[in-house]
Amino acid sequence: MKKADVVTFFDRLAAAMPEPKGELNYVNPYTLLVAVALSAQATDVSVNKATGPLFKTVTTPEAMLELGESRLKDHIKTIGLYNSKAKNVIALSQTLIAEHGGEVPRDRDALEKLPGVGRKTANVVLNIAFGEPTIAVDTHIFRVGNRTGLAPGKTPLAVELKLEKVVPADRRLHAHHWLILHGRYVCKARNPDCPACVVRNLCAFKGKTTLEGPPAGKKPVAKKKAAKKTVKKKATAKKSAAAGKPAATAKTRRKAGAAKGLKDVS
Ligand code: SF4
Repeated sequence: MKKADVVTFFDRLAAAMPEPKGELNYVNPYTLLVAVALSAQATDVSVNKATGPLFKTVTTPEAMLELGESRLKDHIKTIGLYNSKAKNVIALSQTLIAEHGGEVPRDRDALEKLPGVGRKTANVVLNIAFGEPTIAVDTHIFRVGNRTGLAPGKTPLAVELKLEKVVPADRRLHAHHWLILHGRYVCKARNPDCPACVVRNLCAFKGKTTLEGPPAGKKPVAKKKAAKKTVKKKATAKKSAAAGKPAATAKTRRKAGAAKGLKDVS
């Protein structure tokens, strides 16, 4: 995408969302860190549901250790992978107390050394809690960066580094939220809402949807075709069962996505 178009791209997102905000609830940097750690492969809504009652009484690493792993699990058992997430939250709370005086460090390396915290989580915390102009590439930003031609890359890190290069300096702080919200609500994985998209004429995506529905140049996904897909899916499952292999489930597909380093964050 041309430099001038990138400027226009963010001008338009900024006009559409003047005050973009993440959708995870938190009350301080520590609870933000916990919420982001819990949000891996889970929706913000499900995390907020669990952390609402939790953060009423637990807002520090000390309080988390007092609560303990078992009671923490009770609070977050509706969130996927809650067993390992609870372990990580307890372990990161211990590390924060032992090495950072109970505070969340404003430092990427220190954050990434915390149990269960990767580059993306560190970027979210640095951006939201400390106002650093970081961009955490999740599945939405990865898709938007590639589709539009704004920041094409094969890995989340490649997209992040490209975004760091192309996003205008005065847009860097909010770029993370603009791109996530745009990907979550407009440039959706299936059926992007291109007719309502404010950056439509700047976007390089070849499969843009039209007011008529089907993506330009592509056949609509007819009901028949969708039904065929279901039949095919069932046949594949039967084949897997016959071969004694587990069929691919939403969970295994999610795991494959996670292996590529793509997760949802706010
Ligand atoms: S035009 Fe469509 S594909 Fe391009 S950014 Fe907008 S919603 Fe996404």
